[in-house]
Amino acid sequence: MKHFDCVVIGGGMVGAASALALAQLGLTVALVEQYEPKKFEAKQALDLRVSAISLASQYLLEQLEVWSQVLQWRACPYKRLGVWEQEYAYTEFNAEDIEQNHLGHIVENRLLQLSLWQQIKLQHNIEVFCPERLVSLLQDEDKVSLVLESSRLTAKLVIAADGANSQVRKLVDIGMTSWDYQQSAMLINVKTQLPQQDITWQQFLPTGPVAFLPLTRAPFTRAPLTNEPFLSVESDSVQEQQTEQGGYGSLVWYHQRDEIKRLSALSNLQLQQEVLATFPKRLGQIEVLAKGAFPLTRRHANTYQKNRVLLLGDAAHTINPMAGQGVNLGFKDVKALQYVIANAIAQGECWHNKDILGRYEAMRRKDNLLMQSTMDALYHTFTHPSPLIKTLRNVSLLAVSKLPVLNSVVKNKALAYACGI
Ligand SMILES: Cc1cc2nc3c(=O)[nH]c(=O)nc-3n(C[C@H](O)[C@H](O)[C@H](O)COP(=O)(O)OP(=O)(O)OC[C@H]3O[C@@H](n4cnc5c(N)ncnc54)[C@H](O)[C@@H]3O)c2cc1C
Repeated sequence: MKHFDCVVIGGGMVGAASALALAQLGLTVALVEQYEPKKFEAKQALDLRVSAISLASQYLLEQLEVWSQVLQWRACPYKRLGVWEQEYAYTEFNAEDIEQNHLGHIVENRLLQLSLWQQIKLQHNIEVFCPERLVSLLQDEDKVSLVLESSRLTAKLVIAADGANSQVRKLVDIGMTSWDYQQSAMLINVKTQLPQQDITWQQFLPTGPVAFLPLTRAPFTRAPLTNEPFLSVESDSVQEQQTEQGGYGSLVWYHQRDEIKRLSALSNLQLQQEVLATFPKRLGQIEVLAKGAFPLTRRHANTYQKNRVLLLGDAAHTINPMAGQGVNLGFKDVKALQYVIANAIAQGECWHNKDILGRYEAMRRKDNLLMQSTMDALYHTFTHPSPLIKTLRNVSLLAVSKLPVLNSVVKNKALAYACGI
């Protein structure tokens, strides 16, 4: 039986960041994860799962000393964010408007996780249990006892960072409210003929948004393209030629579940044609490299803590990914937890006491709920079929874009909020 201050279940982006943040406070930490992230190689295909990492998340990752490694591998900073429904109401947010160099970076989830793991392995006070799975846990007055497939641990505090279908949340019987959007999101990695690496954009269609997230240009760029359709590539492990043109991107296509199922069954070449017919012209020619679909569900745990078990990240809340905020909320959870425990230790308080952990929930629940509700309001407004609402939303976007007062107050405030600053 091994004893730790904290046992973190789940070594995804949020769990790994929380293990590092707690270790920075001098606590002993065990990190339990079922799958080790694959090592980085420059020629590796781009991960299908990517995230828009906000400025606030970047600051946390810098503090955890993992950000420079992510930048060395692959990450794409973007300076502009375009949003529109009708072309005449196209609205663009710019980093300069909030006196920043960039609005965020698009990062492959696996590389961010890998960078966190690399740093974790340098810490003398973190022990990694991987590949390993939680089997059961028992909550006592003074500790939690955990049975893993091949070891037994005890902890003063257990962090559940085991994702949206959290086993820990179920084991300790924390209920949640949930909302099924009846939609799925299809993620499609593409090669683009046009370089467009400094902008991310989203157009609202009646069936749901379509979006472009820029990825790296460097390691995968290919020979200049002709007007011929791109070659179809069924496998995502292609060797590419070097060139100065084009780039890579991640497309997100929101639609009814049945339609996403139909699109998922297409070959890459057929999907490429569907993308070209639906996505805005500014995308230009593309070649589909890889695709995958994810259902959209909003969930919120009824409480973030119960008898020495604390929920973080997707285990506590999931959100419509429309504005790319999911993992950013998880990183804010990590930051808040580190702040609360650091203060408790500094004040000589018992850092794992229920009331102290309640401060974490007080800091995070309102903020998570606000972001979830803002995304839902946007989602419903932009998918509402009424012609009146359609006109109103386009006029509002136009006003925000063209009227100087609204431009500087509403637009910049919304932008700063989305960047987490
Ligand atoms: C289509 C889509 C697009 C998105 N785009 C963005 C975006 O642009 N920006 C953004 O901020 N967010 C985005 N998100 C959300 C983001 O992906 C999630 O919020 C984020 O991955 C959650 O991280 P996590 O570490 O909490 O959970 P996860 O990434 O789910 O990690 C959980 C980890 O726990 C492990 N695990 C689970 N059970 C056990 C167990 N019993 N024992 C041991 N280990 C276990 C798993 O193997 C996994 O590694 C998107 C989501 C979707 C669906």
